[in-house]
Amino acid sequence: MISQFNCLENALKYFFGYDQFRSGQKQIINEALNDKDLLIIMPTGGGKSLCFQLPALLKSGVCVVVSPLIALMQDQVDALLDNGIGATFLNSTLNREELQSRENAILKGKIKLVYVAPERLLNDNFLNFLDFLKQKVGLSAFAIDEAHCVSAWGHDFRPEYRQLKQLRFRYPKVPMFALTATATKRVRADIIEQLGLQNPTVHVASFDRPNLYYEVQQKSRRSYTQLLNYIRNQEGSGIIYCLSRKNVETIALRLQQDGIDALPYHAGMYDDERATNQTRFIRDDVRIIVATIAFGMGINKPDVRFVVHYDLPRNLESYYQESGRAGRDGEPANCALFFSFGDLKRLEYLIDQKIDEKEQRVGRQQLRQVVDYAEGTECRRSIVLRYFGQQYKGKCDNCDNCKHPKPVEDWTIEAQKFLSCVARCQERFGMSHIIDVLRGSKKKKVEKYGHHLLSTYGIGKDKSAAEWKMLGRSLIHQGFVNETTDGFSVLKLNKYSWEIFRNERKVEIAIAKSLTSKASNDY
Ligand code: ADP
Ligand code: ZN
Repeated sequence: MISQFNCLENALKYFFGYDQFRSGQKQIINEALNDKDLLIIMPTGGGKSLCFQLPALLKSGVCVVVSPLIALMQDQVDALLDNGIGATFLNSTLNREELQSRENAILKGKIKLVYVAPERLLNDNFLNFLDFLKQKVGLSAFAIDEAHCVSAWGHDFRPEYRQLKQLRFRYPKVPMFALTATATKRVRADIIEQLGLQNPTVHVASFDRPNLYYEVQQKSRRSYTQLLNYIRNQEGSGIIYCLSRKNVETIALRLQQDGIDALPYHAGMYDDERATNQTRFIRDDVRIIVATIAFGMGINKPDVRFVVHYDLPRNLESYYQESGRAGRDGEPANCALFFSFGDLKRLEYLIDQKIDEKEQRVGRQQLRQVVDYAEGTECRRSIVLRYFGQQYKGKCDNCDNCKHPKPVEDWTIEAQKFLSCVARCQERFGMSHIIDVLRGSKKKKVEKYGHHLLSTYGIGKDKSAAEWKMLGRSLIHQGFVNETTDGFSVLKLNKYSWEIFRNERKVEIAIAKSLTSKASNDY
């Protein structure tokens, strides 16, 4: 079939009208044409679908696409039909006659791609249908979209995905492609294992989204006004993510009252209202959607111009996914994260409520990475890409830290004072106690432990508590002191702390603007 086109570029042009492949696509498609099992990891909007769609068109038989979301199926099938490509979907929204007529069309060989929900795929009737289809028309491949749903380590575990391994046993010769935008090593290994991929070629595309501008704003006490100002400086459609349904409702309402065209979206709304709001957003009837994280997976709106996280995301992976819904058309778009210590404490509290110790540990570690991103002073893009195991050299010039670097000051002496106070308190106290001792506080707790007698008592009076806190947080984030958080937080020295004592290591910290303003009391 491919020979008919001379080269893959011609086939691409013929079926999809595109002139060239995006990075990685051609190589993947070649592997797919050689019937290899594949694991394809590409950021959202990277062009994953084409990697199984084009091979499906060039090979004989039908490609069965497993997709978790009904809304997504409809979109993808519509897009294919628009290009004159035979495609259909089978799911629970269809009545029996409709299903029957679609199955007949598939068996006639008119269809190259069939989208199926995982729960349908594994019922006996459907498996029998697949057997029959394989005999009559042939199966060219299984494409498992959003494959991270198979992993409990991913952000969207779906137990029914676990059953997909059966396909591997039943059709060992039919190649299987797993696709996802989730790239952590653990999830990757899990996908291979859980789906039973055979000696798969793993493709990891670059996760850089150069058209996205990343910024973090210190969330002020008047955070709503801050949001309103932000939005007033933006153009085009936007998504505002909030943690709670209540917040979603409140913010959407206040925006409407302030003359901003916005609608809410969260899992507690009636299905039809939620669906209407989503459609209105996609069709540009409404400019802004205020949503919980329930919104977004599989939403195909390429021209979202900005995404604001009004509350702190749970982990960096989710942040990358959610903010990545901006600018899928490749045009410039903005991603802003509003960060406050208050929000951080709230999330920490939620994690503390978890019963399972392992979940707590994972939760804390993930939150920590978010904080490192939010408080980091280096290029935001390099922080995100490092998280995905990809190096980004130098400055991107398209994030707040690159565009407006914060002034850095040498605080080595202050760090020595701080750390020696940690040492004198025998590494058994948390940050606020250390600061109390440094600033010579008269609090009972200080006297109770005899810490008013320490040589470090009162040596830090020249700095405010907020400044000491800034230093302390920075030391923690730079890894120069450890903070244990089992139960209550305790500061412990590590090898870097000792290097600082010995003057072998300098401590530089970025001076946050908020320290000189009132917003610093947020903690
Ligand atoms: P993903 O599934 O990775 O999130 P999609 O497969 O939906 O991304 O692709 C995102 C967009 O990019 C779609 O609109 C798609 O048509 C477009 N696209 C994919 N490959 C190409 C290409 N080679 N040239 C131009 N546009 C492409
Ligand atoms: Zn940068």
